[in-house]
Amino acid sequence: MTAVKVECVKGNIAAQQDMDVIVNAANAELLPGSGVAGAIHSAAGPGLAEECGALAPIRPGQAVISSAHNLPNQYVIHCLGPVYGVDEPSDRLLADCFRNALLLADRHGQASIAFPAISTGVFGYPLQDAAVVAMKAVAGTLADLNSVRLVRFVLFSDQDLSVFDKALKLESRLS
Ligand code: ADP
Repeated sequence: MTAVKVECVKGNIAAQQDMDVIVNAANAELLPGSGVAGAIHSAAGPGLAEECGALAPIRPGQAVISSAHNLPNQYVIHCLGPVYGVDEPSDRLLADCFRNALLLADRHGQASIAFPAISTGVFGYPLQDAAVVAMKAVAGTLADLNSVRLVRFVLFSDQDLSVFDKALKLESRLS
């Protein structure tokens, strides 16, 4: 187990130049779509959707890895978050996204990974609950990581950032 830094920033998940891996809040078919997936696919270019065709469909909680095409990162990891109130148990499926993405990045020898607030947009997961699930999932995975040293949450607004920052401070295993 290595020392892992966890941080929250405001920004665009598709503009994280200094990170090895960015995580996509994908849909089951791994198609461009809106929100995070739209931003990532438009920055990556059409090669990403082409590659993703062979990896789809994925299930809630699952994570798959692709190359990053025109993005400045090494890889994109695509996670399908639960649709809140539909894919149950939502908290476990959301935690699985974070855990599986971290393990996948680690297995590929990557040092840094940036997550968006998976499921909190179109999929309707309450932001505060999602933040707690995310921090607990990261904390619970730390002991299994060898190469990952930096985990970044990228939030789209100041308000979302403060919710994630608060959840990070409350998770004693990450301090
Ligand atoms: P989901 O379908 O998993 O709910 P969305 O893409 O709809 O995923 O939204 C997930 C979260 O990401 C929302 O909180 C949304 O505000 C935020 N978001 C949308 N676009 C971006 C972006 N380019 N960078 C970072 N966060 C984003």
